[in-house]
Amino acid sequence: MNLYETCLLKGNEKGIKKAAELLRSGETVAIPTETVYGLAANALDDKAVRRIFEAKGRPRDNPLIVHISDINRLDELVADIPKSAMILADKYWPGPLTMIFNRSLIIPDSVSAGLSTVAVRMPSHPVARAIIKEADIPLAAPSANRSGSPSPTTAAHVLHDMRGRIPAVVDGGECIVGVESTVVDLTGNQPKLLRPGGITPEMLISVLGGLQIHPAVKSRLPDDEPAVSPGLKYKHYSPKADVVLVKAAPDRFADFVNSQKREGTAAMCFDGEEGTLQVPFVTYGSRHDLNAQARRVFDALRRLDDIGAATVYCSCPDEKGIGLAVYNRLLRATGYEVIELD
Ligand code: AMP
Ligand code: MG
Repeated sequence: MNLYETCLLKGNEKGIKKAAELLRSGETVAIPTETVYGLAANALDDKAVRRIFEAKGRPRDNPLIVHISDINRLDELVADIPKSAMILADKYWPGPLTMIFNRSLIIPDSVSAGLSTVAVRMPSHPVARAIIKEADIPLAAPSANRSGSPSPTTAAHVLHDMRGRIPAVVDGGECIVGVESTVVDLTGNQPKLLRPGGITPEMLISVLGGLQIHPAVKSRLPDDEPAVSPGLKYKHYSPKADVVLVKAAPDRFADFVNSQKREGTAAMCFDGEEGTLQVPFVTYGSRHDLNAQARRVFDALRRLDDIGAATVYCSCPDEKGIGLAVYNRLLRATGYEVIELD
């Protein structure tokens, strides 16, 4: 698809103005946020939103997150605001937290994919906020990758996937969180975590008291189960290679990987644990630095394609804190294949 001469805009005043102009005219623009780059369009314009689905090749039943820069814009998007949402917004907005509300009638069906709910987030990235403010419209924005690929955490990743498919990318440097936002559903009796992210379960529980965790966070949904969050059912974040997660100490991991005889075998491991590996590898942060793992995991998955890996054994991250988000993304990249070695 070569519909556009995709231009790379700087995250300065001129770039922000140009991005806002394109968005107001019904176009899509990839914008930096603190989580990952998002592919934005006017959330209240059905035709603009449909362009997001086309550019990404995204299944129509997977709803989008609406981004605002001012809490006063929340009212018009939702049917009601539960008390828990006010508490969470107070503590974690702007930031990597998405909340699910009952939707108002101005939300086009394309945004909520026919659900009666809508997902809303207020990002903290200064460029994202400036673009939303300048455009003066709520922006629907899923991750700016081709559907199924790892989410983009640099403008170069976006261009790799989207060149020719969208009019512009705004460069805001590398995303500091690196995994998509935490998604919490507030429409039921108890807040429910649908997707782990930068706002950890521990952080949510500290203000909410309790939190249900959707089973899909850690395991594959049965095929016949209706997905509360349709995005949960898709294989996602995948490089071209087959990825297998391996839970093992560093030496055991290296022995196991070195004993594989298949051509195209590669490893994805923690910084400093590559020493005895006899296969090509990429690293994704130190074993103990969960924030670095989150920041680097998607870039590492993309680099596996660059080295032409066919089967990748990936050292399994810790499930604590933001590590749960890294674990969840890797599980979904592997199609939930985990090997445990003692
Ligand atoms: P992405 O922005 O690409 O990470 O995709 C947005 C994620 O939010 C997907 O996993 C969606 O399924 C989820 N999502 C968006 N809207 C809703 C909603 N109304 N209810 C539940 N999940 C949602
Ligand atoms: Mg996505």
